Amino acid sequence: MRQLLTILLALQAAAAPPSGLEVLEVRPSFYVIAGAGANIGVQVGEDGVVVVDAGSSAVSPDVLAAIRRLSPKPIRYVIDTGPDADHVGGNEAFAKAGEKLFGGSFLGGGTPNAVDLLAPVLAAEGVLRHMKSSPAGGLPTEVFHYSRKAMYLNGEAIEVLHQPAAHTDSDVFAFFRRSDVVVAGDVLDTRQFPVIDVERGGSIQGEIAALNRLVELAVPSVPVVTREAGTVVVPGHGHLCDQYDVIDYRDMVTIVADRVRDLMKAGRSIAEVKAAQPAKGYMGRYGNAGGAWTTDRFIEAVYRSLAKEKP
Ligand SMILES: [Zn+2]
Repeated sequence: MRQLLTILLALQAAAAPPSGLEVLEVRPSFYVIAGAGANIGVQVGEDGVVVVDAGSSAVSPDVLAAIRRLSPKPIRYVIDTGPDADHVGGNEAFAKAGEKLFGGSFLGGGTPNAVDLLAPVLAAEGVLRHMKSSPAGGLPTEVFHYSRKAMYLNGEAIEVLHQPAAHTDSDVFAFFRRSDVVVAGDVLDTRQFPVIDVERGGSIQGEIAALNRLVELAVPSVPVVTREAGTVVVPGHGHLCDQYDVIDYRDMVTIVADRVRDLMKAGRSIAEVKAAQPAKGYMGRYGNAGGAWTTDRFIEAVYRSLAKEKP
């Protein structure tokens, strides 16, 4: 009896994800892990595991344990959608838990190089620049400065698409073409108004351009709407989206930006723009009076972005 109980408990432990994490099967070979700081995308297959965003460093052991339950194969790639700590915090731990797919020295039959025993961490060039200004480890080991980096792993094309000047200057979308999943990072945050980090090269114009790109990438469930099929868009934070959700979010951001622009054209100061409440109608759903990203800070970022436009 006691033995049976031990087995049952062990089975239960194997089924439940560790410590507060939520693991969602989005497609047969694609999972989203929520509750690790940022949402984490996990593609699994015969080549190994591709991880999009590494979450906060504090939860890395739990996230790695959750990934182990999805696949026994090594992590082959870590893709960062942006430079924030809750997206890159697990870089180092994930890279160490992984292994390069084709280490040069493995091909030669020699002793593996230290670098081949780490999974590469891929990001837009700006992520490396921004991370270098902080003491944290886990810097990206593979960076690119062009608009698209493409690869083919686990039987599907993966496009990493740079969005210049949106949340920051170094956001990417990771588009898994066969799974039909886009991991969008902080360009999309369903909990609040998008964080526009003007200091690190973000802008409202680039944010709207990136959201338009996301709308174009995603295909809704038409003509059979009831199937609930269609492209899955994974936001940096918040719930999973379909194309309609992204359109709503894009429209909301565009309307607020247009209101701010109109107020600025009428000669209003930043204080007057805030007092006019250009986010009215959306504050209940996306606004924050306190915390790290208040409605006021969002309006300031919009104002500062638009102030750079030529009249
Ligand atoms: Zn984030």
